[in-house]
Amino acid sequence: MIYLDNAATTKTAPEVVQAMLPYFTECYGNPSSVYDFAGKSKEAVTTAREQIAKVIGAKKEEIYFTAGGSEADNWALKAAFEFFKGKGNHIITTKIEHHAILHTCEYLEKRGARITYLDVDENGVVKLDELEKAITPETILISVMFANNEIGTIQPIKEIGLIAREHGILFHTDAVQAFGQVPINVDEMNIDMLSSSGHKINGPKGIGFLYIRKGVKIRSFVHGGAQERKRRAGTENVPGIVGYGVAAARALNTMKERTAREIELRDYMIERIMKEIPYVKLNGDSVKRLPNNVNVSFHFIEGESLLLMLDSFGICASSGSACTSGSLDPSHVLLAIGLPHEIAHGSLRLTLSEETTKEEIDFTVDKLRDIVQNLRNMSPLYEDFIKKQK
Ligand SMILES: *Cc1c(COP(=O)(O)O)cnc(C)c1O
Repeated sequence: MIYLDNAATTKTAPEVVQAMLPYFTECYGNPSSVYDFAGKSKEAVTTAREQIAKVIGAKKEEIYFTAGGSEADNWALKAAFEFFKGKGNHIITTKIEHHAILHTCEYLEKRGARITYLDVDENGVVKLDELEKAITPETILISVMFANNEIGTIQPIKEIGLIAREHGILFHTDAVQAFGQVPINVDEMNIDMLSSSGHKINGPKGIGFLYIRKGVKIRSFVHGGAQERKRRAGTENVPGIVGYGVAAARALNTMKERTAREIELRDYMIERIMKEIPYVKLNGDSVKRLPNNVNVSFHFIEGESLLLMLDSFGICASSGSACTSGSLDPSHVLLAIGLPHEIAHGSLRLTLSEETTKEEIDFTVDKLRDIVQNLRNMSPLYEDFIKKQK
């Protein structure tokens, strides 16, 4: 198998699993209990909180564990909306956010929120002048993702944070794809809230966090016990938190060499595809791009057929259509960067990991080239196109 879908999820690193195991078996105490035995669980949670806070330059008290990235996104938006209802109802976000943001915005719209969905340029970058223009006295929150999960584009987060700060507006960023992949500092970037998820960085699934800057007074998300400074009740997922901490520390320690290597392989793959396959377009910014993201559109091709053919060679990838819903609508992200429907339909996302090799990339591009040619040979559209060329 060749796994090139690391934006969907990653393999849990062996040392992460090893670190988690004792918290299922020997150290199963509830961190809230007072006896010494439970103290081990409590300490482990504190260590993980420190490991995670370090990655984004935060304090450990500002990290609130959740059950994943989606929950963190829901929390940031819903709680900010409720808390600032008295001040205003306007939220600014973008057209290319993850559904955890977009569907939460739709939910809030039904409850009286007014949402501005900013356009992006052809590379998927938010236009700062349009952001400034969208701000009104009613604006209570700006939420812009750090890096896009489909096309890999990295946003000018520091500049956006500055605009938010100058206008006294809260700034949230969905950093699920960026955490551990690109350097982040919440102070330098003026970030007030940040979402992240364990399973996107070789950690376990079902654990994430919301960073909430000290002094930001948003509502609790889950009511019950006093866990997470009374803001997110429920007995801690101790093994998950421990694994997440180890994964975060690991991602931080290896970031420089790992991403340098990934960038080299990524660009090699892009170069081969662009050179060897005709009628193809690279989606997303070629420079301001996640180290492991390749996203291309092949004209006259259905992304779904491409995926099935790749799968028959053991290659796992993702297409540009709404993956989870089983819907055949092209991705909202690809439409937002201006791709026509028919080209968006022929899109393919390949996301590398630290384990991806040059041999795997070569094998994948070889197969891709043949598959694309075979699929085009069966396409009446392509046939027409070629006839017209002659
Ligand atoms: C995966 C992802 C999420 C959702 O995270 P989960 O932990 O799977 O809920 C949110 N935002 C982005 C950008 C993602 O890539």
